[in-house]
Amino acid sequence: MLRRHGDEAKLIAGGQSLVPMMAMRLLRPAWLIDINEIAALKVVATDGQTVKTGACARQTALERDVAADVRVPLLKQALAWVGHVQTRNRGTVGGSLAHADPCAELPLVAQMLGARLRLRSAKGVRDMAAAEFFTGPMMTAMAPDECLEEIQWPVWQEPRTGSEFTELSVRHGDFAMVAAAAQVALDAGGRCTRAALGLGGVGLTPLAFPGLTARLVGVRPGEKDFDELAQEAAAQCEPGTDQHASASYRRHVARVLAGRALRAAHRRAESVQ
Ligand SMILES: Cc1cc2nc3c(=O)[nH]c(=O)nc-3n(C[C@H](O)[C@H](O)[C@H](O)COP(=O)(O)OP(=O)(O)OC[C@H]3O[C@@H](n4cnc5c(N)ncnc54)[C@H](O)[C@@H]3O)c2cc1C
Repeated sequence: MLRRHGDEAKLIAGGQSLVPMMAMRLLRPAWLIDINEIAALKVVATDGQTVKTGACARQTALERDVAADVRVPLLKQALAWVGHVQTRNRGTVGGSLAHADPCAELPLVAQMLGARLRLRSAKGVRDMAAAEFFTGPMMTAMAPDECLEEIQWPVWQEPRTGSEFTELSVRHGDFAMVAAAAQVALDAGGRCTRAALGLGGVGLTPLAFPGLTARLVGVRPGEKDFDELAQEAAAQCEPGTDQHASASYRRHVARVLAGRALRAAHRRAESVQ
């Protein structure tokens, strides 16, 4: 159906973003293609390397999956901030990524962890990294005849890994004004072996900072390292101004939240014996 009607059709998954957009007449697709009953798209599976989620897995299903939480705890930490229980009961993991809101939590986790996304069309399958997938606000590299099929979230192998997700919004459950996520891995001596930082709501897409976090590798990071990293990450953001906050306030919040997320992720990693 997408091959035939791609330009004038929309896939409908949980409908938690699409239906409000249709109600506001921001979108008026001629065709709605309902993918809710495709069982193969609802899988949540884990192995040593990845947590795999079918695009149509409900957000609640991922949030409650114990094996996924053990391997990538950041997913559950992020999902706690996504809307409300009711919206997560319907909203899907793939729908959130396909909607590509730069303030949204799951796209931020995908971007900072380097998740891989599998796209399917009548022509076949292609895989891409999250960094290539998000191209702008509500824009992705998906062609009109493609369906997001599966998301692969990488599992960090280091036993001493900690993560944190935090955000600021007008009310809990609202979209984030600014969101920050961090993950830190340490060796037995407390030296950083890997780190990742992401910021949402402060650019056209969710942002990751691999160049900055690479500096933590090999050191026993402390307050000063986290403060400097947060400051530089905030300086690299390009936040906008709207009725809720000015660009400079958003940049300030990005710095504060990035620092908090890094410190909390580091504390969690340190607490693993
Ligand atoms: C009150 C409320 C509060 C919310 N708060 C938040 C929040 O804080 N954070 C947040 O991130 N989200 C929030 N949302 C949005 C929610 O997370 C949605 O579930 C999500 O954005 C879209 O997922 P969905 O399954 O509902 O997709 P849908 O609304 O069905 O679809 C969204 C878009 O993705 C496309 N799409 C869906 N599935 C696929 C696929 N497999 N392949 C290709 N394209 C696809 C659709 O065609 C459509 O363009 C909120 C929603 C509501 C109603």
